Amino acid sequence: MERIFGRPIVTQEEMRTRIRELGRQITADYADKDLVLVGVLKGAYAFYADLARALRIPMRVDFLVVTSYGTKAKPSGKVKMVTDLTEDIAGRDVLLVEDIVDSGLTVQYLLKTLSRRKPKSIKVCALLSKPERRKVNVTIDYVGFNIPNKYVVGYGLDYQQKYRNLPYLAVLDTVDDEGQGF
Ligand code: 5GP
Repeated sequence: MERIFGRPIVTQEEMRTRIRELGRQITADYADKDLVLVGVLKGAYAFYADLARALRIPMRVDFLVVTSYGTKAKPSGKVKMVTDLTEDIAGRDVLLVEDIVDSGLTVQYLLKTLSRRKPKSIKVCALLSKPERRKVNVTIDYVGFNIPNKYVVGYGLDYQQKYRNLPYLAVLDTVDDEGQGF
């Protein structure tokens, strides 16, 4: 059986501080706009809840759920929206809230799909970004932390649907019974 260990890379305190900063910046940028804050589930749920409460402007909340085809080991790169928004975004200022931007394919797909609905503006806020892993060129307007190419869990992010409730962000180390990491 494999045992899994997580080494913290972003603490709760660092997370709180950075989200307060992002909250101030987004509050200033959207002061006179018609903001719809769109959470990309499941991964963004923890970040979304904290970010929304750090914004000091009236806004709408909405959510969508996406899945990527393939496996973690062999992702196909195809993304699908399995649950859509409930709000109309035409003429409104949409801010997509993502957990992490890796290849950039999810964000690229969402920007393309939602732009067809004619929002007044559409921007992206991601808690995490792995710039080394980018396959497509996407603009991430607000980034919490740039991180190296490691698999992370916690604060909304999963490993096989678990660990999302860790209150900090950890790098996953998987070790088998012989103590070999892989
Ligand atoms: P992209 O489409 O940018 O390649 O991938 C975005 C999605 O891949 C994220 O929303 C997340 O679900 C998943 N992902 C990418 N890197 C990580 C990671 O380090 N940890 C976890 N838990 N998920 C990741």
